[in-house]
Amino acid sequence: MAALVLLAGLSVLLSAQPSSITVVSREGRKPLPVTTINNQDYVAVDDINTAFGTSSREDRLAGGLTITARNRSIVLTENQNVVSVAGRLTPLPAPPVRRDTRWFVPADFLPRALGTVLELRLDLRRSARLLIVGDLRVPRVVARVDAGASNVAVTLEITPQTETRVSAQQGRLTVQFDADALDLSVPLVPSQALVTGIAQGDTPSTVTITLGPRYASHRVTTTQADAGSGRLTIELLPATTDVATPAPPAPAPAPDTRLVIPAQGPSTGLRTVVIDPGHGGDELGTQGANGAVEKEITLSVARRLRTLIESRLGLKVFLTREDDRTMSLDERSAFANNHRADVFLSIHANSAVRPALKGAEVFYLTVERADEEARKKADDNATTLPALGGGTRAIDLILWETAQARYLEQSATLAGFVEQALRSRVEMSPRAIQQAPFRVLVGANMPAALVEIGYLSNAEQETQLASASYQDQVAQALLDALIKFREFIEH
Ligand SMILES: [Zn+2]
Repeated sequence: MAALVLLAGLSVLLSAQPSSITVVSREGRKPLPVTTINNQDYVAVDDINTAFGTSSREDRLAGGLTITARNRSIVLTENQNVVSVAGRLTPLPAPPVRRDTRWFVPADFLPRALGTVLELRLDLRRSARLLIVGDLRVPRVVARVDAGASNVAVTLEITPQTETRVSAQQGRLTVQFDADALDLSVPLVPSQALVTGIAQGDTPSTVTITLGPRYASHRVTTTQADAGSGRLTIELLPATTDVATPAPPAPAPAPDTRLVIPAQGPSTGLRTVVIDPGHGGDELGTQGANGAVEKEITLSVARRLRTLIESRLGLKVFLTREDDRTMSLDERSAFANNHRADVFLSIHANSAVRPALKGAEVFYLTVERADEEARKKADDNATTLPALGGGTRAIDLILWETAQARYLEQSATLAGFVEQALRSRVEMSPRAIQQAPFRVLVGANMPAALVEIGYLSNAEQETQLASASYQDQVAQALLDALIKFREFIEH
């Protein structure tokens, strides 16, 4: 069985023969061949008979075929897209087709007609080309890789939320799901120093992350992405260079402005604001059913907010991106650090599996215990760096991973003001304020919050989010929040 599973996994990866659906049942996995007819996926009736133990008999005179299972029958008529299933007429998206001596039915025949006569739940997952037989737990798992300048975050969106366990072996991490199989989609991982591949593991309910040569450790966080789904984030970390160990004097290493940033005291004034329009370039973000694209909406809201802040408050405002370009999450917070921002606001639009979910949400960073320990360490030790021309100089350094931890209280206050201000102008989600381990907030060396301004997966909200009036309301609310926050820190 293991060999069969492995082969099924490989064929998916290589996409050399995309022409099959994998049937997943308690008994294991087996391929069901697929033929393309008129741009539709069709399955041969004789292959269905082999896979499901049904039988069929042709009536050439009537131009029909009867498929029998458990003393119930399905009657097909050539070129008619309505079939009789145990006496009930059932429509199909396309008619059965007879070619040479073989009959073919559209893939939807499996859940719509065959499942009924077999008294089995047959769930066809088109994108993963899976047919799930019976009540198996087969969560949909969508993998994403976000590469920062030194770290890589592998995120698995899991629907419905499912327990996972991550274990490390030589050269790879294995994610074990509490499930019977996975409906997995993985991105192409460009060969990288930290991760070289993500694939179905060697059992149906595991995912394997193959590690690159610079991998040193990892950190796992799980969060609830929305009511129905969960999110597992595995941060892959390289070996950190030990800055306290005196290095050979010359040549001086170029400082990594991303990994090590100069400390600022707690914010006492509001002079500079950095606004981060989420996504951009190749990375579209989430998309609505009617074509609204997150990266465009976030940029438009950011521009409106900049105009308001500049004209009403006279503060310096920078956008992490001025146009449609790809930018890593760490580059965005590094941009805010380099511009010595006093506030960092990241703007996004949300999506959920359940179309009913709507409303705005505000996030600030969750800090795990490991981070808190690192934060103490970073606070306790002023670090000595080798200086140009030999010798050393003391410099107050903060590790990237702990930058935001120092501002958590101010960030919570900022998020609270943002939530209040939004509530008076737009609809809020039932979970209007939350903490989450958003990567883009981790390295921000100032109070920071992330705003999901609404759900593009909700039809009504998609129209709102794309409209100038809603975007203006959001921008106005964020301006109101910044005014309150300025009063708070400058009191
Ligand atoms: Zn987003």
